[in-house]
Amino acid sequence: MRLVAEALKNFFKKPFTEKYPKAKPVVPEGLRGKLQHFKDRCIYCGLCAKYCPSAAITVDPKNKVWIHDLGKCLFCAQCEEVCHEIAKKDAIKMTPEFELAETKKEKFITKHSKPEKIKNQEEP
Ligand code: SF4
Ligand code: SF4
Repeated sequence: MRLVAEALKNFFKKPFTEKYPKAKPVVPEGLRGKLQHFKDRCIYCGLCAKYCPSAAITVDPKNKVWIHDLGKCLFCAQCEEVCHEIAKKDAIKMTPEFELAETKKEKFITKHSKPEKIKNQEEP
């Protein structure tokens, strides 16, 4: 009898589970999801790559190329911190984007490079 009463009580309660993905969950403040790289702010110094514990970032300072492999990322935000604290550029920002599933590995790669200079254009 106690079991039936308990079952009936729970039947009318709001469920604890969420109807994801139909209903989008409210993520906690400060959630570290996919990082965003602002190539217009980046100076391609390579500090983020140096401090990344999983070698998810590669920077070629000479050719001004920045590459991030989301498949290797630990979402630790060390790159964001070092870019802010040491490079003083704020070129990396962790976003709360957490729906990151992809069917192909290549889709995890973000590659940014500084636009090529127009040929024959003189440096100021
Ligand atoms: S630390 Fe910042 S400025 Fe330097 S390469 Fe990384 S993103 Fe660019
Ligand atoms: S969040 Fe951490 S693991 Fe991911 S790229 Fe930045 S430093 Fe590397």
